[in-house]
Amino acid sequence: MLEDVRAAIRDVPDFPRPGIVFKDITPILSDPRLFRQVIDALVDRWRGARVEKVIGIESRGFVFAAPLAYALGAGLTIVRKPGKLPWRTIKEAYALEYGEAVLELHEDAFQPGERVLVVDDVLATGGTAEAAGRLVSRQGAQLVGYSFVVDLAFLGGSARLGADKVHALLRF
Ligand code: AMP
Repeated sequence: MLEDVRAAIRDVPDFPRPGIVFKDITPILSDPRLFRQVIDALVDRWRGARVEKVIGIESRGFVFAAPLAYALGAGLTIVRKPGKLPWRTIKEAYALEYGEAVLELHEDAFQPGERVLVVDDVLATGGTAEAAGRLVSRQGAQLVGYSFVVDLAFLGGSARLGADKVHALLRF
């Protein structure tokens, strides 16, 4: 079952930089059975959580966020790297291993109190998802949780985000 999904994820050493082992999820996407399995498992986890909006993180997060939102009967919102969103935005900066990155969200993405689920493919240190969560909270929406396909558990992202809020299909 999910072990087939685990086996399909490809380790790419030294990408995008020396020392990083990149978890390539594209073999899941290209296999119709595995892709369906992953989306169905995400839907099973969040079906009862009254999610009103799913927020996908650029760019691989979009791939999982969109079918999840559709299946949950929720709306979809995207957070993007700077300069990509056409409307007025709010921004959050977060630390990378070297330097800093910024995420943007449309300023009218959420209604106050709206129940929001943050989605990305891989949880590493948690900095990216945490910044997305801050954007959600700043708009007065309610953060239901964080959903990932892969958790690189040795990097401690789950503890950083709050383990009770985090779900990942697979841990490495
Ligand atoms: P982080 O903010 O450290 O949790 O990094 C998470 C973001 O970087 C996600 O958008 C991931 O897609 C990407 N990412 C970080 N590390 C990896 C990795 N080893 N393999 C694949 N994606 C990664």
